[in-house]
Amino acid sequence: MRQITHWIAGKPWSGVAARTGDVFDPATGEVAARVDFAEPGVVDDAVAAARGALVGWRRTSLTRRTNVLFAFRELVAAHRDEIAAAITAEHGKVLADAGGEVQRGLEVVEFACGIPSALQGGYSAEVSTGVDAFSMRQPVGVAAVISPFNFPAMVPMWFFPVAIACGNAVVLKPSEKDPSAALILADLWAQAGLPEGVFNVVHGDKVTVDALLTHPGVDAVSFVGSTPIARYVYETAAANGKRVQALGGAKNHMVVLPDADIDGAADAAVSAGFGSAGERCMAISVVVAVGAAADPLVAGIAERIADLRVGDGRRGCDMGPLVTREHRDRVAGYIDAGAGAGATVVVDGRGVDADGAAGGFWLGPTLLDNVTAEMSVYTDEIFGPVLSVVRVPTYDDALRLVNDSEYGNGSAIFTSDGAAARRYCADVEAGMVGVNVPIPVPMAYYSFGGWKHSLFGDTHAHGEHGVHFFTRTKAVTARWPDRGPAAVDLHFPQAR
Ligand code: NAD
Repeated sequence: MRQITHWIAGKPWSGVAARTGDVFDPATGEVAARVDFAEPGVVDDAVAAARGALVGWRRTSLTRRTNVLFAFRELVAAHRDEIAAAITAEHGKVLADAGGEVQRGLEVVEFACGIPSALQGGYSAEVSTGVDAFSMRQPVGVAAVISPFNFPAMVPMWFFPVAIACGNAVVLKPSEKDPSAALILADLWAQAGLPEGVFNVVHGDKVTVDALLTHPGVDAVSFVGSTPIARYVYETAAANGKRVQALGGAKNHMVVLPDADIDGAADAAVSAGFGSAGERCMAISVVVAVGAAADPLVAGIAERIADLRVGDGRRGCDMGPLVTREHRDRVAGYIDAGAGAGATVVVDGRGVDADGAAGGFWLGPTLLDNVTAEMSVYTDEIFGPVLSVVRVPTYDDALRLVNDSEYGNGSAIFTSDGAAARRYCADVEAGMVGVNVPIPVPMAYYSFGGWKHSLFGDTHAHGEHGVHFFTRTKAVTARWPDRGPAAVDLHFPQAR
């Protein structure tokens, strides 16, 4: 049995773990590896390695830091297929999708290669006679990154390239369900010339996370996961004096107005609803069909679902299995509940005939129509291949429904009316909005993040927000002794 372990101070951990977890191949249902869980003592070692490396790394010149980042970018690009294969083997998403997530992570590395510009401070000469003022951004220190199962490469890469480029050291705690991609990335950092200890990986569960959240050597925490855990991480890390950003769950609505290109909207709903088996925080899980859009849209979505091939992600299928058996059963339970509460099951994925091993965690694409706001299939984040259609009479009803949701990650509107789209962008309570674009994940040089219960904290991931999160600003006011008019003066300082 393959054993997966931590990466501390530039090499694999050599201890014997007190606890381990099973890592499944979701397409076969078999245990493919065991992963070591880090007890607090191992977290101490990782944080100590990071703190030790921080001293030299934060003083390393921007030129040297960016040289390492450029080398890392080339290595990740060259190993894209290897990383994608590791993701597919442990997460289940199809290979093309896994390659896509590596690409989106790479774009953050590319953004981080431009860190000299992003870190530029301001300078004001002569703010007072003979006095200049300037500002600079300095690293926060040791950053813990705690990531979810659904993007084992991309989500960690939302954070650590920016953190490292800004001069911080990192301890990554990836999901224990698919831990291998993080270790490939750790090895590539070493090959790129990153000094030992700047990037560390510890695996584990709540015990490991709690040790990071309360560790005095950790300065900042970036978390991504479900809303209850995000809230817990935010409160615990903040109570322990850390800077924290905690991205939570989602329930993304796609509003379709009657004047939309209905074929295009149906394509988008199927792509955004069932890509990665709906295990995306930016997946569309609710289609809000306004007025006459509903009937043709539901028919169009059902028609397209019929063409999807579900099966092993290594066999060129469109959609893979769910991540674990428990998760598959939980999602199937929501379909049962929706049907029981009166939703119309237009396409039922519960009996899917998958192109894969009998033991795989299969659940086919499912379309529920006539869903209402009281049903659990509507209120809860399902995180699976279940698309609900809620029918509403007007645009205002659609907007009210979306804004009443406790989540506010992403939302999309499909219409050919520019004024309606513009109004929606202004009025919708979500952090990311798509206009005739179903999965509006911002490019790396913008920032990713939701509103309401989809994000706890003030800053979003990557782009300008990422640089702000991983740096502290210092403002300097300086006078050099050109003795001038200096004299003792007890008045409050004012520009002269
Ligand atoms: P999760 O909340 O179960 O786990 C996330 C991380 O927290 C993992 O590293 C896990 O080991 C750790 N963890 C689990 N239980 C914990 C506990 N009790 N205490 C402390 N740490 C704990 O999430 P998941 O199932 O891995 O990922 C899916 C969730 O992530 C969905 O809710 C999805 O919407 C969300 N997500 C959000 C975004 C976003 O940008 N907002 C992006 C990706 C995923």
